[in-house]
Amino acid sequence: MTALEITGLGKVYNNGNEALHNISLNIPQGSFYAMLGPNGAGKSTLINILADTVRASSGAVSLFGRDLFTQRSWCKRQIGVVPQEVAFDPFFTPREVLAFTSGMFGCKADYAWIDELLRRLELIDHSVKNTRQLSGGMRRRLLVAQALVHKPKLVILDEPTAGVDVELRRRLWDFMRELNASGTTILLTTHYLDEAEELCDHVAIIDRGRLLTARPMQEMMGEIASSYLWFNYGKKLDMTVEAVKTLAAFEPRLTDEGICLKLGMLEDGSTFHEAYQAAVACFGAPRDAGLRREDLEDVFLRLTGKPMVEEQADG
Ligand code: ADP
Repeated sequence: MTALEITGLGKVYNNGNEALHNISLNIPQGSFYAMLGPNGAGKSTLINILADTVRASSGAVSLFGRDLFTQRSWCKRQIGVVPQEVAFDPFFTPREVLAFTSGMFGCKADYAWIDELLRRLELIDHSVKNTRQLSGGMRRRLLVAQALVHKPKLVILDEPTAGVDVELRRRLWDFMRELNASGTTILLTTHYLDEAEELCDHVAIIDRGRLLTARPMQEMMGEIASSYLWFNYGKKLDMTVEAVKTLAAFEPRLTDEGICLKLGMLEDGSTFHEAYQAAVACFGAPRDAGLRREDLEDVFLRLTGKPMVEEQADG
């Protein structure tokens, strides 16, 4: 069963910006799904379409078998989205905020669940303070609690651990894992690729509004992630036309110190030798070289040509 079936989704903003182009994606029920992309990829646009704050220009979305665009109120109750901005009354306590949020979803406040959320998100000691007295990190956790208060079947976590310290990040992960294990489908966007790799069983990468890949995490790591040879020349290299031709089969990627070459079949050692010879033919003997296996960060860089965190400071 599919939790979310996205077909040919497109979004062109009024100013002509095409934020999403023909995105088709299936999110299986019960999956822990990572959606990754550099800044400006279209992640927020996609999430906002799901959350009904942005209107799609084309395409269809089905949520647990129902049409998202025509059965909005039913669908809204199935989704929990962590809002981007803090939107609660500063004179409410966290407990009151959560009771109020339950009401907005048409549910009676379930105080046992509310207290469980406050406990798990480590807000219980602050549950009777005004929210304006909470720190930034506590407010973010309250946003997560708000998204979960109506026990949604699909939870959308948009950068839930940004700015959260390592210790608490771990505990939040445990909680998310438990939610997922109890059947909740989770869609996660994150800048922490180690987080995606550790938590998620599926991954999609989008860039400039287009879907680059979507597959089970294991398959991604097993098939796409491959070994590569890195060469250190102690400087940025110039790729001549000749070098581009010689190295084409190795999908060369320039780094600050040299170059990385992707390896295919390693078992017989032939590609290793060929890659090494090719680099030497183009740039001479390197200062240093080595073999590495790609992790998700490398895959991301290779597919998008961008590091994951390049513009985070102004975000
Ligand atoms: P992400 O969340 O991956 O950083 P966004 O969905 O915010 O990406 O943005 C995708 C693209 O759409 C970007 O080029 C961005 O500038 C553009 N965009 C986002 N919101 C608007 C808007 N309200 N009006 C016009 N363009 C927008």
